[in-house]
This record gives sequence, structure tokens and C-alpha cells, in this order.
Amino acid sequence: MVAVADIELAIGDITEQEVDVVVNAANSSLLGGGGVDGAIHRKGGPDVLGECQELRAGRYGSGLPTGQAVATTAGRLPARWVVHTVGPVWSGSEDRSELLADCHRNALAVAAELGARSIAFPAISTGVYRWPLPDAARIAVATVRGCDTSGFDVVRFVLFDRAAHAAFESALRTER
Ligand code: ADP
Repeated sequence: MVAVADIELAIGDITEQEVDVVVNAANSSLLGGGGVDGAIHRKGGPDVLGECQELRAGRYGSGLPTGQAVATTAGRLPARWVVHTVGPVWSGSEDRSELLADCHRNALAVAAELGARSIAFPAISTGVYRWPLPDAARIAVATVRGCDTSGFDVVRFVLFDRAAHAAFESALRTER
């Protein structure tokens, strides 16, 4: 039996979450983009970008591979750290579910290493990367439930709108 923290759902903006870690649905360049990524860099400010640039100059010279996760400061965000992870682009012809699961597993592992007790995830890959919400929600919830989250008090999914919230609510009810 895997130890599981409480999973919470909220409708809102990931950049406003008062948690130890917010997860960024980053792109592999780590240098910002649209959606969650753009919002985190805009509000987090130059310290976040600076650390991302250092990562690009060092360990991740060719970018952060899909499914992996890496931490930076959260800059001006209320969170303590941002954990950046790159979701897979949806494909109808190739099953990339394991990569989406990896994003959740690896973000939790990086956050646990930092000593985080609370973490907020956006609905990774469901924006520009076009993953259908019900399926992304199912993978996200099942993966978090399959991880040892006993070190966390709270794992929160922060959904931007009612449709995303409903998809995650349904996944929480059915993915036991
Ligand atoms: P991806 O490139 O992984 O698809 P996006 O950032 O484009 O990531 O979108 C991921 C999800 O996050 C989408 O469902 C989008 O509606 C939602 N989203 C966009 N901005 C925010 C925000 N500021 N806070 C929370 N969720 C957001």
C-alpha cells in the first residue's frame, strides 16, 4: 500500500498558490513560453529566468528532456520553489502516457528532495500541447496516487477553468 497525501483540487491561477513548490508546465528551452510557463516567468521575475539560463548553460545545454523535472527558485512567487517539467505533446498515433506520468513522478521526487511538504500542479500538457483533459486528468491522478507522497501534507491540482476542474473531479472519483 503506497502512502498517499491528500489530493486537493482548486480552480485558480498556479502563480498565486501559497505552497512550497509550484510545478511549471515548461517547454524544453526553460526560457519561458505561453500558458503556465509565461505566467510563472512573468510573475516569478528575473531570478527564475536567471536560474533557468544557468541550467541551460550547464546541465541542460540542449534543454530539459520531456518528462524530466528540475527545480529553481520561485523568485517573486509566493511559493518557495518552481519545479519545471516538460509535458509531452499529445499524439493520436503514439502513446506518450508514460512521459506524462514521468512529469508527475519526477516533479514529486524533486520536490521531496527539496523537503517540500506542499505542491501544486497545473494540468500539464492540456494547453498548447493539446492532451485531452479527461485522459490527462486520469494519468495525473493515477500517477500521484501511485507515488509515495507520505512526505507531503498537500498535493493540489490547480485548474484554470471549470472544464478542467470537472475532468479532475471525475478522475479522482474513478481512479481508485
Ligand atoms: P502545456 O504546454 O503543457 O500544454 P499550458 O501552459 O499551455 O501547458 O497549459 C496547461 C494547462 O494549464 C491548460 O489547461 C491551461 O488552461 C492551464 N493554465 C494556463 N495558465 C494557467 C495558470 N496561470 N494557472 C493555472 N493553469 C493555467
